[in-house]
Amino acid sequence: MSVSYWLDKGLAKTATGDRKTCDIAIVGAGIAGLSVAYWLKKEDPSLKIAILEKNLVGSGATGRNAGFITCGSVEHFSRLCERWGEATALEMWRFSEINLELLRNEIIEEDSTLEFDPKGTFSLASTEPEFTELKHTAKLMQKLDIAVEMLDVHAITERLGVANFVGGIKYLKDASINPMKLVDKMTQKVRAYENCEVFENTEVYDIEQTPGGTTVIKTSQFEIESQVAVLALNGYSASFKKYFADKIYPTRGQIMVTEPVPKIMEGPCYANFVLDYFRQLADGRVLIGGFRQLEKATEVGYSDHTTDVIQSALYEFLQTHIPVLRDKKVTHRWAGVMGFSFDGQPLVGAMPDQPQVYFVGGFTGHGLGLAFHSGKALVDLMFDRSIPSFISAKRI
Ligand SMILES: Cc1cc2nc3c(=O)[nH]c(=O)nc-3n(C[C@H](O)[C@H](O)[C@H](O)COP(=O)(O)OP(=O)(O)OC[C@H]3O[C@@H](n4cnc5c(N)ncnc54)[C@H](O)[C@@H]3O)c2cc1C
Repeated sequence: MSVSYWLDKGLAKTATGDRKTCDIAIVGAGIAGLSVAYWLKKEDPSLKIAILEKNLVGSGATGRNAGFITCGSVEHFSRLCERWGEATALEMWRFSEINLELLRNEIIEEDSTLEFDPKGTFSLASTEPEFTELKHTAKLMQKLDIAVEMLDVHAITERLGVANFVGGIKYLKDASINPMKLVDKMTQKVRAYENCEVFENTEVYDIEQTPGGTTVIKTSQFEIESQVAVLALNGYSASFKKYFADKIYPTRGQIMVTEPVPKIMEGPCYANFVLDYFRQLADGRVLIGGFRQLEKATEVGYSDHTTDVIQSALYEFLQTHIPVLRDKKVTHRWAGVMGFSFDGQPLVGAMPDQPQVYFVGGFTGHGLGLAFHSGKALVDLMFDRSIPSFISAKRI
């Protein structure tokens, strides 16, 4: 990114006496940056870590998402198999299953305040061709021993309170959560370690390499010298380094939330080939997101404003498919920036021209389902252990 002379408080402080120092500086305090910090501290509690965040912890996509913790990726499992082959698709699925297991064991624990619900998610079809694809997907998954249930129209109507769908499947190992409470808990855990500081309102402008092989990180508040830096910027990656321009695309997503209604839904749902999604929250409100396909050309970039076209489509969907919401009020609307990778899988690696600058991102709308395990994989890479090839940036 570029910064004006006038804003450049960090660059102006050239005296080394002004510099902070640490072993590892992490840029970005969303779920990915915090996950990396967590696994680094587990690896070596003596490491001195600084997390540098432009705004507040969780203010990026992490605090703006729908809270689905789903296995797999952005498309139905059958399409994942077509694209990558069954063996790799299964490996990808297991990677995200382990992500949830790790989250449960390490962060969520038995904490009921996180609104964690591990009872699965649904994928619903509103047309016969999509239902045929879902049935095919379910059969493939059953063959590979992935936990899935097939549902006819009566079952989904009764269990979800929805209308105008023709059938669906249930992914039995998925979950949902309050994403901000999750990330607050992660932050508490990371902060509880000695020598792990989170600096909010600290925008990183640039990372330079010193002749001695360390990095100097220039921020809006101070300079910090670090052995190693980690970029955990996901959708914002290309705004920081041009290198990511053809690898991680900033892609907007919009959400709407209604006033509370009595409990009707057994669990969160996807519809329309995973493009649209809705769930009932702990307090009875219904959250719905998606429909970026209506304004694909403009639903890109870094703005977090909502648009009339997509918000109207979200409302229309609720009126068509969830009878209990007829004429209910909308209480919240927002947008956030996701990082879509060129092939839909996360990217874990190091910058080719700055080998001590690592990165993790490109979660393609599924960071809750992927980032905790990807952060662990990044630490494996930093400590010279192997990582799965489908997340390795070496595939670029
Ligand atoms: C509307 C919407 C719905 C979604 N729904 C789901 C869902 O249900 N399930 C799911 O798994 N995923 C969902 N996602 C995607 C998920 O939120 C992301 O994949 C995940 O939050 C990415 O986490 P992150 O830490 O990599 O990025 P972010 O949370 O975006 O964090 C990056 C951080 O970097 C900071 N930053 C940027 N530039 C700088 C800089 N120069 N210096 C310092 N800091 C900087 C930003 O302020 C930000 O806090 C959704 C996303 C959106 C927008």
